Amino acid sequence: MQIRTLILGAGAAGMMCAAHAGGDCLVIDHARTPGEKIRISGGGRCNFTNLYASAENYISANPHFCKSALARYTQWDFISLVDRHGIDWHEKTLGQLFCDASAKQIVAMLVSELRAAGADLWLQTSVSGVTRSPEGFVVKLEREGKPVTISARNLVLATGGKSIPKMGATGLAYDLARQFGLPVTDTRPGLVPFTFAEDRFRPLAGLAVPARLSNARASFDEALLFTHRGLSGPSVLQLSSYWQEGEEIRVHLLPELDLFAALRAQRQDSGRKDLTTELARHLPARLVDALAQDWSLQGRLADQSDAALQQLCERLHNWPLKPTGTEGYRTAEVTLGGIDTDALSSRSMEAQSVPGLYAIGEAVDVTGWLGGYNFQWAWASGHAAGTAIRG
Ligand SMILES: Cc1cc2nc3c(=O)[nH]c(=O)nc-3n(C[C@H](O)[C@H](O)[C@H](O)COP(=O)(O)OP(=O)(O)OC[C@H]3O[C@@H](n4cnc5c(N)ncnc54)[C@H](O)[C@@H]3O)c2cc1C
Repeated sequence: MQIRTLILGAGAAGMMCAAHAGGDCLVIDHARTPGEKIRISGGGRCNFTNLYASAENYISANPHFCKSALARYTQWDFISLVDRHGIDWHEKTLGQLFCDASAKQIVAMLVSELRAAGADLWLQTSVSGVTRSPEGFVVKLEREGKPVTISARNLVLATGGKSIPKMGATGLAYDLARQFGLPVTDTRPGLVPFTFAEDRFRPLAGLAVPARLSNARASFDEALLFTHRGLSGPSVLQLSSYWQEGEEIRVHLLPELDLFAALRAQRQDSGRKDLTTELARHLPARLVDALAQDWSLQGRLADQSDAALQQLCERLHNWPLKPTGTEGYRTAEVTLGGIDTDALSSRSMEAQSVPGLYAIGEAVDVTGWLGGYNFQWAWASGHAAGTAIRG
């Protein structure tokens, strides 16, 4: 069977690419249904883009690479697509846009867009091998157990990253990129909870507090969640993408509050109150108990000197913690690193050294922050490759 364009992976980027690639196009996926990560994303409501998406929200060895594609297919383009399909949405926080009803609406929208563009979709289809031919690529597939060989002028790698192997994530895009001589940068889990030795935070599991998490490279003000295995929540997931093994992180509890002023005022008004009782007005009581034990906090407010209160505030604002690791690809939302952007055109996503070979989405070394940025990259890079293929 001969076609113009074969897209490997019916995820966010692959389907978007198919919707723009100009027909005579086939998308294959080994899963039973397309867009599984879209379906489960955003707690089932899909955080499909971010109002403030720009190149600053992405991590890549080349921070300029994503600019061209993001500029040519913006969050506003995706919002108008969603609007054309009558999908209602809302901003949850920090520019993050979610479906009012269900992420399945985004999957259905993409499937209808790719079909309207004349593309075909084969599910439960795996790739047995790919070779180069004078006309392009010969791809051996297994469709529902039967072998099928496809010749395609264009081949698009859109099989995503390694996160959540249980959902069908594989390293296929990286393997094929290497086979065709494209370098692949080191990959590691991103947007992933931290783990700590001896389940240190188990007694605090379930507590959430506002916090600023930082290391030498980045800082994020969002909620922090204590879990059975360690720390999670948006601020932790964000910082994990900037964290290196063995590194210490700093937790600033209550970043919005002038705690020193609050404690001094209370000392003035209610000096007989216990210090820990006062702290529990601002932080969950279970956390205050744990910190009081670790830091030997005791006594009434009236017993605390300015210096003692200042030292306490300094501790709460600069709490050093050393994760032992992360939960890894099992729960990571994304894969950092990937197909080296130096090997690709930032305009078309085509490999510089292999005409007709394209790489898009999470498989490429471009990783977004938490908050709809990863889907925006999938839409933008899929659109860039699709329109380049259409010509
Ligand atoms: C739990 C979770 C929640 C998330 N929530 C959000 C969110 O709300 N907002 C956001 O912006 N990002 C979110 N992300 C990240 C986002 O899902 C990804 O960045 C995005 O899906 C990447 O798109 P992609 O098309 O490159 O890859 P994917 O969407 O992962 O698609 C890859 C496709 O390739 C197929 N495939 C893989 N290997 C093979 C193979 N060997 N043969 C055939 N097919 C194969 C897979 O079945 C899959 O359908 C979330 C991720 C997770 C895990």
